Amino acid sequence: MNDLTSRYTEALMNTFGPPKLALVRGKGTHVWDADGKEYVDLLAGIAVNSLGHGHPALVGAITEQLQTLGHVSNFFTTGPQVELAETLLRLLGGGVTAQGGGKVFFTNSGAEANEGAFKLTRRTGRTHVVVAEGGFHGRTMGALALTSKAAYREPFEPLPGEVTFVPYGDADALAAAVTGDTAAICLEPIQGEAGVVVAPDGYLAAARRVADEHGALLWFDEVQSGIGRTGDWFAHLRHEVVPDVVTLAKGLGGGFPIGAVVGLGRAADLLQPGNHGTTFGGNPVACAAALAVLRTIEADGLLEHVRVLGEKIRDGLAADPRVTEVRGEGLLIGLDLVSESAAAVVQAAQEAGFIINMTTPQRIRLAPPLVLTDDDAASFLQAWPGILDAAEV
Ligand SMILES: *Cc1c(COP(=O)(O)O)cnc(C)c1O
Repeated sequence: MNDLTSRYTEALMNTFGPPKLALVRGKGTHVWDADGKEYVDLLAGIAVNSLGHGHPALVGAITEQLQTLGHVSNFFTTGPQVELAETLLRLLGGGVTAQGGGKVFFTNSGAEANEGAFKLTRRTGRTHVVVAEGGFHGRTMGALALTSKAAYREPFEPLPGEVTFVPYGDADALAAAVTGDTAAICLEPIQGEAGVVVAPDGYLAAARRVADEHGALLWFDEVQSGIGRTGDWFAHLRHEVVPDVVTLAKGLGGGFPIGAVVGLGRAADLLQPGNHGTTFGGNPVACAAALAVLRTIEADGLLEHVRVLGEKIRDGLAADPRVTEVRGEGLLIGLDLVSESAAAVVQAAQEAGFIINMTTPQRIRLAPPLVLTDDDAASFLQAWPGILDAAEV
């Protein structure tokens, strides 16, 4: 163990287990550890570093905003805050127009975005929420109440809300669970923490119909799948379904903490003065960072890049017979191994100079920066069979 990891163990709560590496520097899609070893970062801080490490547009925007005006509280507004809200609403596209507008509430994390959205759903006068098995929505008490994994939830019960869990992708189960008391259906268009499970065709549209039948809100948690990660601005767009609520975080700030609750149509005005708040949320530096991310994705044509490169990587990974299934869209990629060797694969990849992630004992996830180069992708695919050999998959 090097000095930083042993000091970590003494000074930090043991919520994450021992750190796999102590990292000291990043540039583009590469990071370096305390011993000077270089890695290709194919996880991007869990789908966060959209522009990689140290991108000049992001560094420039944060630096300039911090030099101009760093924080003001929500007694006041700033240009970056208003512009970011307007930009997100524009990117949500047709849905906003169809439903007559939308409004944004900024947060500092994904869990906090979901917490805010959960409170928003209470303002319908209803308390029942339907969510999916395998879903992950964060670790605060509210977000945790919506998260399916019993090991995360049970130590903290009782949790708020009347929550019904239904199998993901099963439209009939969803229809059976929603009633006239249901405030909202909350779904990830792609379940990230479950190992990148993509909504089957027609499922999100069925959720829209069921929500409408019972007057419930349809809420998409795009904390992981949003902001270009799938090759669309938001993963739900290709399903051509208009939600009432969208929650965002991870990739939005490119590494600077920021999240958002977007309410469309009637959901835009459910939260009223005094209902909710935050000190840091919508801070101008965070908003400037997010604007730099969105502008760079647009200016550099990254959506198209993500679509093309994601397909290449998925094809390359699937070519090895020890991989039984490859899933995902764009650069949110999950795969199943023939054996429960995901931990060994992550370790072997790290030794070979690649940072990847396991979601279950048999599942691997990749969520590289959207700026991942063809060369870095090719070097990983070339190393992949050797990584599986080393891990004795
Ligand atoms: C990561 C994640 C969250 C929680 O975000 P935090 O920033 O860790 O609180 C919520 N929902 C989804 C879909 C996520 O992937």
